[in-house]
Amino acid sequence: MTVDTDSRRDDVTHWVANRPFPGAAHDARWADVFDPATGAVRTRVALARPEDVDTAVGTAAKAFPLWRDTSLAKRVQVLFRFRELLNERKGELAEIITAEHGKVLDDALGEVSRGQEVVEFACGIPHLIKGDMSENASTGVDVSSIRQPLGPVAIVSPFNFPAMVPMWFFPIAIAAGNTVVLKPSEKDPSAANWMARLWQEAGLPDGVFNVLHGDKEAVDGLLSHPQVKAVSFVGSTPIARYVYETASRYGKRVQALGGAKNHMVVLPDADLDLAADAAVNAGFGSAGERCMAISALVAVEPVADELVAKIAERAAGLRTGDGRRGCDMGPLVTRAHRDRVASYIDSGQQDGATLVLDGRTVQADGGADGFWLGPTIFDHVRPGMGVYTDEIFGPVLSVLRASTYDEAIELVNANPYGNGTAIFTNDGGAARRFQNEVEVGMIGINVPIPVPVGYYSFGGWKNSLFGDSHAYGADGVRFYTRGKVVTSRWLDPSHGGINLGFPQNT
Ligand code: NAD
Repeated sequence: MTVDTDSRRDDVTHWVANRPFPGAAHDARWADVFDPATGAVRTRVALARPEDVDTAVGTAAKAFPLWRDTSLAKRVQVLFRFRELLNERKGELAEIITAEHGKVLDDALGEVSRGQEVVEFACGIPHLIKGDMSENASTGVDVSSIRQPLGPVAIVSPFNFPAMVPMWFFPIAIAAGNTVVLKPSEKDPSAANWMARLWQEAGLPDGVFNVLHGDKEAVDGLLSHPQVKAVSFVGSTPIARYVYETASRYGKRVQALGGAKNHMVVLPDADLDLAADAAVNAGFGSAGERCMAISALVAVEPVADELVAKIAERAAGLRTGDGRRGCDMGPLVTRAHRDRVASYIDSGQQDGATLVLDGRTVQADGGADGFWLGPTIFDHVRPGMGVYTDEIFGPVLSVLRASTYDEAIELVNANPYGNGTAIFTNDGGAARRFQNEVEVGMIGINVPIPVPVGYYSFGGWKNSLFGDSHAYGADGVRFYTRGKVVTSRWLDPSHGGINLGFPQNT
């Protein structure tokens, strides 16, 4: 497998039964895939038709009985091989991510490493799905519990983490004995096919991991397909809600992670230099295209003026450019998204927020047609403004000012999203109160991007997650398995006789 990021690549086709599958429809559809740092079309990706959905799901369904019955020992050997190959070659995957998403190479490598954590967690599946056993629960009666895989499961992922988000799900799904159809984002589809080839090299049997490319048509096909048993979705809130409602209506188990507006609260006693570093890293890393990016900073007075000055000084020094050139921040993913984010800068000004740093005038170190927007900071943002109410998903940091801790937490809790949040303070009591009171799923205390490690679970509250199951960790294992409880008695003649009463324990 070689990576050539310089020239136009072969078409990205579906991947079914361990080989490329161009799609069967006579009226095939394709979408262009861009290199955001040059603005050039890099390749094109197949968009599935309903018959392609059937092929992918049918293949996964056919592969399920054999994979389900493959011993835990053998499944784990495949997982370990996948982990070793991924670890050896993650540089290749990072290059693909940078070429299609635009994030800088180091960041792409970080994304792969965080996904790899979940692969490593899933290698422990024999321990993770061990059941319980109670001997002699009633006289001569034993009770045990087991967890079994569901069948073919669908994963629908967003553009912003083309490797990590699928890896939040498929390692555990596969380790637990399910088969998978992954529908990645059509904006940066190549990472999924790279990972599919790696599974093949790791020895995963045909049909256990399949990639179906496409848009709404592919997703709708998966949500309603009778053989799909569960759906894991990550993306924007309106689509997450739609996926949750639709898949539930078709009787599927579903977890749907949505968008975010993550607040960072800075109390007056915080170290303002460390807080400014953290705000810049979490606000502008990956050009703000992270569901855990900090997009709203709440400064508790009297520190706002000083803090904004420190953040602006740091942000102005960031180098925006081609992620392959050692820059700090890459382009946005598409021209349309770049323009949408830029339109929020216009609206913030119209609404009366103070524009401290304007990313529209950035001099990027990259192609003239790249999708560039530099770091942008608004101060004196108020709750009703569009830059605050909407998830912008770009390098735009809004600063709000609060007079007290109570005012700050009210702001966070009034927000309809509840993915991540952070507090910066040296006051243990305030931090403890914050973790107790804040209505958000993932909390950082002096940690700006509190993405849980692979053996905890990732998930927000409110409009950031639909369903009751978070991603990976123990929740992931529960999501991809279902429980059975077995009550057993080995009969002897003393157990004879008719008794229609409800069984009681003796
Ligand atoms: P998106 O919602 O546009 O797309 C996500 C997936 O849904 C893609 O695979 C896409 O093809 C598919 N899709 C798009 N429109 C659809 C429709 N109408 N019907 C069915 N499927 C459809 O999201 P995106 O722009 O790719 O990703 C960015 C969003 O994802 C942001 O809102 C971000 O906050 C969110 N996100 C959330 C998390 C989290 O953990 N909560 C993690 C990463 C990204």
